Amino acid sequence: MAEVIYRGKCLCGAVRYEATGAPVIVAQCHCEECRRLSGTGHTVGAMFRADAVSLKGPLRNYSYVSSKSSDVTKAFCGACGSPIYGTNSRSPEFLTLTLGSMDDAGSLGVQVVIFERDKPHWDQLDEGVVSFDTQPDWTPEQ
Ligand SMILES: [Zn+2]
Ligand SMILES: [Zn+2]
Repeated sequence: MAEVIYRGKCLCGAVRYEATGAPVIVAQCHCEECRRLSGTGHTVGAMFRADAVSLKGPLRNYSYVSSKSSDVTKAFCGACGSPIYGTNSRSPEFLTLTLGSMDDAGSLGVQVVIFERDKPHWDQLDEGVVSFDTQPDWTPEQ
């Protein structure tokens, strides 16, 4: 049986990747670092063995020490800024790809939520929020 391959790319397409086999886990994280990195209330990442992932393109890195005192590196496209993957010194043989950069993550789902205590209230829609299928024909009043 052929192993499944997950392909993905950044917004501008300069960075591309392939990951072979099923992810170890898919996690949604609400920590402050993920909030700032994503610009929204969480990230969703699929962890793979690093040797199962091949990447190409103008990746740039940003590293910091996490609140759990591990070394975290986030890699993003140097041209368009899309977050692509992260690594953590706690599990150096793995890397975590952003689920939103995948071409087709339809077979994957979030299995665990972490840093739930940091989840902003606006990261979940209230029942009364009006929704549109696509961008509505709306601009701010002058
Ligand atoms: Zn890009
Ligand atoms: Zn996080």
